[in-house]
Order: sequence, then structure tokens, then C-alpha cells
Amino acid sequence: MTNRSRRSFLKKSIGAAGLSLMGQRALVSVLHADSFERATRGIEPMPPGTVRLSAGIFKEQEEINARYLDSLAIDRLLHSFRVTAGITSTATPYKGWEDPTCELRGHFAGGHFLSAVALAYAGSGNADLKSRGNELVAGLAACQQKIGTGYLSAYPTELFEHLAAGKPVWAPFYTYHKIMAGLLEMFLLSGNSDALKIAEGMGQWAHEYFMGISTDQRMRMLRTEYGGMNEVLANLAAVTRNERYIDAAHLFEQPSFLDPLAERRDELQGLHANTHVPKIIGSARMYEVTGDRRYRQIAEYFLEEVLTARNYVIGNTSLDENWKTSPGQLKGTLAWTNAECCVAYNLMKLERLVFGWTGDARWMDAYERALFNCRLGTQNADGLKQYFFPLAAGYWRAYNSAEESFWCCTGTGAEEFAKLADTVFFRRGGDLYVNQFIASTLDWKEEGLVVEQVTQFPKEHGTTLKFKSSRPATRTIHVRIPGWTTSDAEVKINGRALEAVADPGSYLTIHRVWEDGDTITVNLPMVLRQEPLPGDDSVVAALYGPLVLAAELGAAPTDETYRIVHSSSTSPKNLPAASPLPKVAAGPRAMTDQWIQVESKLDLHFTAAGESGKLQLAPMYQIDDQRYSVYWQTQVPNKQS
Ligand SMILES: [Zn+2]
Repeated sequence: MTNRSRRSFLKKSIGAAGLSLMGQRALVSVLHADSFERATRGIEPMPPGTVRLSAGIFKEQEEINARYLDSLAIDRLLHSFRVTAGITSTATPYKGWEDPTCELRGHFAGGHFLSAVALAYAGSGNADLKSRGNELVAGLAACQQKIGTGYLSAYPTELFEHLAAGKPVWAPFYTYHKIMAGLLEMFLLSGNSDALKIAEGMGQWAHEYFMGISTDQRMRMLRTEYGGMNEVLANLAAVTRNERYIDAAHLFEQPSFLDPLAERRDELQGLHANTHVPKIIGSARMYEVTGDRRYRQIAEYFLEEVLTARNYVIGNTSLDENWKTSPGQLKGTLAWTNAECCVAYNLMKLERLVFGWTGDARWMDAYERALFNCRLGTQNADGLKQYFFPLAAGYWRAYNSAEESFWCCTGTGAEEFAKLADTVFFRRGGDLYVNQFIASTLDWKEEGLVVEQVTQFPKEHGTTLKFKSSRPATRTIHVRIPGWTTSDAEVKINGRALEAVADPGSYLTIHRVWEDGDTITVNLPMVLRQEPLPGDDSVVAALYGPLVLAAELGAAPTDETYRIVHSSSTSPKNLPAASPLPKVAAGPRAMTDQWIQVESKLDLHFTAAGESGKLQLAPMYQIDDQRYSVYWQTQVPNKQS
């Protein structure tokens, strides 16, 4: 059936005062949300469990994260849920944002943790983490059952009453979203059907709650951060094919935020970044589930605008968690409190969705930039995660404590490092997209195809794909030729170079019969280049291929309080003032290789001729114990009087 007829059916259903059982059956038989989703999402991720990382920098990070997740005790995670439900708990609760007095408690314990273990199971087959997730779901089910209304949280409904009454409260629906999302992922990625039932109960409670509230009051309540409630309800509608959750998702939409975006107007100044990116992910999913193209226009414009007018070179945005300036004006915004890590996590989720609609390589270029420069490196060797990503000169990385912080970024980081395998390969039907250059193996059982990606990227400037198949098959392979490479990029099939390669910033399409043992070798030359800080051409950052280079400015403080934050606070206390940016002995338009030398391609080691002497440079992801700067002050010629 056509989109138009489907939309008119949806409209009718939405207009009905409540959906009868017969209506629900009609929805299931007529709509088939899944098949419609395939129509809107041309290019899809591989099914969960089909891609595994091989030894390398990503696998190492995946394992570190899994060890951290494994260190957390289920009884302690459940404590505040049990107390709220009136079930005895003698466990010691965690601290920070999971402390029994914190109004966000439960966001990690019953939300991000569940998402992370479900993703870890899908991404690496970690059955131990899956069973710990199942144990947590069983504990949450008992809490929900005891409460008896469908409601489930680690705090009482009183916090929602505060929200309704306009009394100060942190963000009750934000936490509610995390828990629903965790449960839904436990169902989708690890097959826990109890988790779906709990999520449905929670979705029904939220719907009923808002149905009893006037539009004006609801709009006032939506000024408080609510995460991706619209996204998780759209996801629930797609899974259950129950129109009710689409109705509920609509109740979490704010015309005051969405309308300017639909009209391609950037009115983001003054908004809190991580409050708003999840709402756009919700819009993207509403496009996929309802087919309404206005949602798609909103998502595409928003993403394009943030990436071009509001992003720092590392692939992330925000100052003090907010968009504080007009578009394209980041002059004077370099600080400790740049680029909250959650925002990158959410932008990447959005990039992944939008890529699926068009196959445009720019979104996977953006994903790669964020992945290598502001995700890789934000987890330390103990699995602790960063909150802010300082971009002023002379600062260093600081992390949450293991049991006393539980920030939002602890949660999104735990998810990120559990799902490093999920964007390497995508598919359209039986065709394959090679999006990211990460050592991994795709075992695509339904196509009888195994693809091994062998690479040391980015130390190696390219990758090799080895095909194993039980029978020859005609299929199209799309390989991303990133925007950062040169026209010297080369692709070989079984050792023979193709006469032409796609332009940088697009996909090379290879259509042929593939046989067991075939190989594709991709050589992607990396070169030095620089990008100005938006709004200040005299301040530049240097890149080598996809990698942002950072100047090493001396050892980070050895005092542990500057490196690990043992509280709910998100930054170390008593931070010193930033240093001046390192100065380049060249003007803003000098060629980058006039002031940076590649010392070793293999080790990714560089030096720069700073005004006050030679500086060592490394890719930002490798910076651990150093003070650093990713931006440089170039020489600005004196204006002629
Ligand atoms: Zn965060």
C-alpha cells in the first residue's frame, strides 16, 4: 500500500478517541510497520550479532568497557527501584547521580546499564553480561508488579507531580526514557520478552499520565528535559505495531522547538544541547515509523546545521552544555566545559539514522570523525568515562569515579563502547556497505557470506576485505571513499587496481559476481590539512586523514582529584585558567605542511614548528596523560594603517 493511503489510515486512527481492539488488529494487518520502515530506511544496520570486532584498538576498548559493566552489582543497581516499590533492599546504593537522594537515580542503574549489556551481547556475544541484564530485568519486573500501575522508576511519582505543579525538579521523564530504552534494547538485542512487557506498561502509564493533563500544562512540563521519550515511544510502536504509542509519542513534541527547524531556521542559541539532540532522534524515528516527511526535513536540517555551524573540529558541539552563540560563531568559546560527551553519542545516533535514508557518505564521514576524535580516548584503562571534552589549551582528560559519579556521560559512554561494531557494515537487501575501517568480521548467515576486514587503520592507511562464501553470488559492494582522502585513493580487486575510484566523500560501488577468496584492498592516502574555528579564521586545528592532531603541552596533573571526579559534580574542583593557544609561526592560510611535519606515518607521530619551539603532536585519541591543545593561534598580519 502506498505511503499516502497509510498516512490517511494513521490519521484516522490518531483521530479516534481510543483505539479499540479491532482497531489494533486492523493496524497490524494493514500497516505492517516493519515493511514500511524498510521503505523509508533504504540502508540498514546489519542484524544484531552478525559483526564482531577483531583484535585492535576498538576491541581493546570494548573489553575494557565490558569489565567495568561486569564490576557493578545487580542488587546495588536495584536498590532505589526496590525502595520505591516498597520491596526490602539491604544493598548499598551507588553514589553520585545514583544516590538515593538524587532526582535522576535509576537513569544508569535501570537504563543505561541495561542498554549497555544488551548492546554488549549483540556486539560481542557477551553472554555473562546478557544474563546480568536478565537478572536486572527480573528485579525490575518485580518492582513494577508491586507498584501495580505500569509505572516503574527508582523514585516515586511525586517527582512527576512536582513537574506538573511547576515546582523545581531535575528531569523525571529523562530518566523514565532511559529505563524504557534499556528495557526495549534488552528485548530487541537479547530477546528478553519480559523487558518488552515492562516497557509497554511504562509506555501506557506515560500516555495515560499526559492524557490527563491540559495542552498548556503539558507544554510547560516539556520545557524540562525529557530525553528521547518521543523516540522510545516511536520504537515501542514499531515493535508492538500498536498505534497507541504513536499517539503517546506525539504528546512529547514541542512545536516551539520543531517548527523553526522545519522552516530551516537555526534558533538553537540558548538551548541545552543534550536536551535537544534526543528530541531530533525522536523526529527521525517518527519519520521512519509514520512516513511523515516533515520529521525527516527537521532531522536533516538540524544535523546539517549543527555539524557545519556549531561543531568543533573533534565532531562535537556545546559550551557549558549549551549552544551559547549565533550560528557559525565559536570565537572565544574554547573552555574546559566544551563538547559534553553525551552530545556526540546522540549526534552519532542521528548520523546513523539519516545515513540510512540517503547513503550519503558525508554522514559516515561525520560519524568517523566523532568516533576517532571524541569517543575513542574518552574511556580510560579502568573503563571510566569523560563528561566534558576540554578544548581550551593546557587542559587534560578527567573521568568519572567507578562508583560515585554515574553521570549521563558514564551511561552513554557505557553504551558507546559496547556498540563499536554496529556501524562498520550496513546492508540494503543483499548489498553491502562498508562504512568504517575497523578490524572486524561480518558473518552474514542469510546471505551465506563472511567478510573479514583486516586493518590496522588508522596506522594503516586503508583496509582489506576478504570474502568467504559457499557459492558465487552477484552483489553490489559499496565502499566509503572518505572525504579526507585524495584523488590518489586506490582500490584493488584480487590484486588488480580498478581504473577509477569514486571521488572522496562518496561510495565506490562495485557490482560483480563475488567468489570465495575474493579480496578488496583499499588504499586511502592521508594528508595534513587544517580547519579554522568557526567564526575565527586565525584559530585553526590540524588533521591528518580523519584524525585531529593535538599538541602535547606537558604532563597532566598527578593529583588524582584533577583526573577522577569522586562526586556528582561533572568537573574537577579548582581548575586553573587555560593556557594561551600554542602559536604557529605562519599565517592562517599557510599550508599545513609548512608548520607540521609527519615524523612517522606508522606511529602517527608529528612535530610542529611552534613560535616558541618544536612541539610533539599525536592523534587526539592517543592523548591520555598529557595536557593538550587541538587549536592553534596563527599569526595574524598587522593591519596596514
Ligand atoms: Zn552527558
